[in-house]
Amino acid sequence: MLKVEGLTVKYGNITAVNNISFEVPEGKIIALIGNNGAGKTTTLKTISCLLKPSNGKILFNDRDITGQKPHDIAKQGLIHIPEGRHIFPQLTVKENLIISSFSRTIKYKNFKLEIEQVLDTFPKLRERQKQLAGTLSGGEQQMLAIARGILQKPKLLILDEPSMGLAPLIVEDVFENIKRINKQGTTVLLVEQNAQMALSVADYGYVLEVGDVVLEGNAASLLEDSSVKKIYLGEM
Ligand code: ATP
Repeated sequence: MLKVEGLTVKYGNITAVNNISFEVPEGKIIALIGNNGAGKTTTLKTISCLLKPSNGKILFNDRDITGQKPHDIAKQGLIHIPEGRHIFPQLTVKENLIISSFSRTIKYKNFKLEIEQVLDTFPKLRERQKQLAGTLSGGEQQMLAIARGILQKPKLLILDEPSMGLAPLIVEDVFENIKRINKQGTTVLLVEQNAQMALSVADYGYVLEVGDVVLEGNAASLLEDSSVKKIYLGEM
């Protein structure tokens, strides 16, 4: 579904991503793991066309989308849930969900039904639908960001650090939801520092270090890899 070919991204003289290539096959969960500053966020922002690469190509469903407008990419079904969630804190939970309809051509009556379905999936959000989103807990805000993403009807959902700042139990809950969304037919590209969690739900993973892909493999085998264990899973 997604092919990233020889992608290089620079900020002035700094090369943040250096000639990386990877694929996200339809129906799978692919994890991109790496430490701070490895280039994960830069890679995602370039895929969703928020940044322009200095080299390389991004193919989405065999179409070259490199350098297109981010809102056009979103309309094609490539939905990016950014690091830090970026919900609208002064709007209620329900209003945050309603806003998702603006990028779609859908009758409001039908969209309301979709919102009800999403609230069935995230009962906590239903309970809190009238609450200002900025007053939700971190986990609830992450769920809201994911719910808003689902309402965009993603073919490919890309998530940047969904575990950031969350307690372990909430992280498990968030990842259960990611697995469920994938089982319902959405392909997922996941960027995480929490390698253990990411690789436990992913089919395949890539390890990024200072802008380079240094390792790739089935998620299960990466979890067993000695260098991954040492560097990312805290085992000596
Ligand atoms: P983290 O997990 O900490 O978010 P990351 O793997 O997502 O890290 P990036 O945010 O992509 O890494 O950053 C990769 C490199 O690019 C870092 O060295 C960072 O300092 C640099 N960088 C990121 N954004 C900018 C920017 N807007 N201007 C200049 N340099 C940047």
